[in-house]
Amino acid sequence: TKELGKNGYSFYDSNVRTISSREMQLEQGLHKALEQDEFLLHYQPRFDLHSGRMAGVEALVRWHSPEYGMVSPAEFIPLAEESGLIVPIGELILRKACEQNRRWIDAGYPPVRMAVNLSLVQFRQAHLVDRIEQVLRETGLPGELLELEITESVASQNERAVAERLQAVKARGITVSIDDFGTGYSSLSYLRQYPLDVLKIDRSFIRNLPHSSDDTAIVQAIIAMAHSLHLSVCAEGVETKEQLDFLREHGCSEVQGYYLSKPKAAEEIETILGTTIAS
Ligand code: C2E
Ligand code: CA
Ligand code: CA
Ligand code: CA
Repeated sequence: TKELGKNGYSFYDSNVRTISSREMQLEQGLHKALEQDEFLLHYQPRFDLHSGRMAGVEALVRWHSPEYGMVSPAEFIPLAEESGLIVPIGELILRKACEQNRRWIDAGYPPVRMAVNLSLVQFRQAHLVDRIEQVLRETGLPGELLELEITESVASQNERAVAERLQAVKARGITVSIDDFGTGYSSLSYLRQYPLDVLKIDRSFIRNLPHSSDDTAIVQAIIAMAHSLHLSVCAEGVETKEQLDFLREHGCSEVQGYYLSKPKAAEEIETILGTTIAS
């Protein structure tokens, strides 16, 4: 399921997994998709609750397959991770996202940060930082306008390698955020070990706001902790005005979700770049 795929971890430590014929076909399809450029990106805006401004967008990959139709990333990203194809696919996504942001800058739109999801498998690559640098160089995008979203599972990796990679990325001015915060890892010690900028609260904690007293307590605690650690905090999956009001009232820094905007194609994003929050 989607939830299992989220932390990118359950797939590896569970019992032997049976691979369906659809999965085998899709994995074959991914090779072709890469060659034939069947991937495109949609972008979901993220708003700063203090200024009300659109602070950034998150790039979300879409696979439009002639054979299988629209395949959800929740389905094909885990397959790409298992086969290692996520490395070239992820690089292509990074490049497309940076190129798009560069085009928006050149067209004179107010600058926004482009957030790109980075899989644990990509993060493990020794040449990751070189590739990121290369993409920034070739697209001419300042590191300040790039954000990398990694999941908590990264924190379970070799500490020194993680710290070195994150420091190298930070040295380029790139923002680092923890995606799906609260779902992936049992220890919080990584929060003080690594140079991080943003916690993205998983949408499972946002869904039942403000009615669930457990979830309001958890979300308030995450926001308070983020502030004391000098981290910014972004709530994902905001679908209602009530949720938005709660988050604003409790000092959440940024929000993202269908209530503000669904992920959209680049041309649609252009019409709202630089707008302020609809409240
Ligand atoms: P994610 O990184 O947590 O991305 C957010 C997902 O939640 C997106 O689903 C987005 O469309 C959806 N979403 C946003 N706002 C709302 C809301 O208000 N309500 C609900 N119910 N959903 C909302 P999407 O695009 O299907 O992506 C699913 C997952 O696939 C992503 O979760 C991410 O883990 C992975 N993914 C997507 N694009 C990429 C990519 O380029 N690279 C990698 N490595 N993973 C990606
Ligand atoms: Ca899998
Ligand atoms: Ca994400
Ligand atoms: Ca997320």
